[in-house]
Amino acid sequence: MADQIQRGESPGKAKLGLTGRIQRGESPGKAKLDAHGRVCAHEDTPALVRKDKPSRRNPRLTRPMRFVSLHHHSTYSFLDGFQLPEAHVRRIGELNGTALALTEHGNVMSHVKFEQAAKDTGVKPIFGIELYCGEIDPERRSQLKNHLTILARNPEGYLSILQLVTRSYQEGFYYEPTVSGSMLAANKRGLVVLSGCNGSLLFTSLVGGKGISPESASLQRGMGVAQRFRRVFGDQYFLEVQAFPELETTRRANPLLARISRETGIPMVATLDCHYTMPTENELQKVLHSLRNGGKSTPEDLSKSWGYAAELCPPANDR
Ligand SMILES: [Zn+2]
Ligand SMILES: [Zn+2]
Repeated sequence: MADQIQRGESPGKAKLGLTGRIQRGESPGKAKLDAHGRVCAHEDTPALVRKDKPSRRNPRLTRPMRFVSLHHHSTYSFLDGFQLPEAHVRRIGELNGTALALTEHGNVMSHVKFEQAAKDTGVKPIFGIELYCGEIDPERRSQLKNHLTILARNPEGYLSILQLVTRSYQEGFYYEPTVSGSMLAANKRGLVVLSGCNGSLLFTSLVGGKGISPESASLQRGMGVAQRFRRVFGDQYFLEVQAFPELETTRRANPLLARISRETGIPMVATLDCHYTMPTENELQKVLHSLRNGGKSTPEDLSKSWGYAAELCPPANDR
């Protein structure tokens, strides 16, 4: 999987856009749209590529970086993500990314704009969603939802995503459009599943959170979750890891995820969990969060419980 990312391929080689047209991830350097869809003259040189001369000691630094960014939230992840889909596409194009997945919280509303922007820049669009998962039975449901990252591998996978979104609103809506385990299993065709962020069932089973106390979380509990998912999704299930050294739970979870990968053979995939496009936009995410709950919480209040130290975007440069 890591090799595939370096080569700029999606895990399932998703090739079809919403229009059924084959997308190719070529010419990422030609990204020219600004956040409002206007042509702009931004820097063509990928921001992460150093300009130092190649040396025998460190030849890789001068090679153009190729990567696929598989977990993004635009402004359509309401009151959480910032910037329109075209800005996310443009930023990944600037960084020489060959493909990008938009995975909004619980909806697919950004996908048409996303496909249009991707077509213009040559970045391959991968259509995905971050589902809210949990019990939907009125006796057992709760406000706490687990997150799960889902990508469409092909047109059949996109239909599965649409089925899941529809059912999440019609049968599972409780505070959020919610998908149950049985809904997932019944609509799994054509999907690639990444285990999810620090709000996922796997992550919280390993280190706690979302109703699981740290004492009852364990490697063994996480191992059971990973194996259950693998039984349902087979080789289309991947362990998602994120590089947030600022977050204590992530520092504890990542070695455990690596161990599950070693012991089960389930491959790992690294994502950025982008919620905006540049580090400075972190401030705007705080403002969006403070608008939730009718504006009763200030950014300062939220900072106490939210890990704002982690930048949810690609780094501005590699230095
Ligand atoms: Zn999440
Ligand atoms: Zn996310």
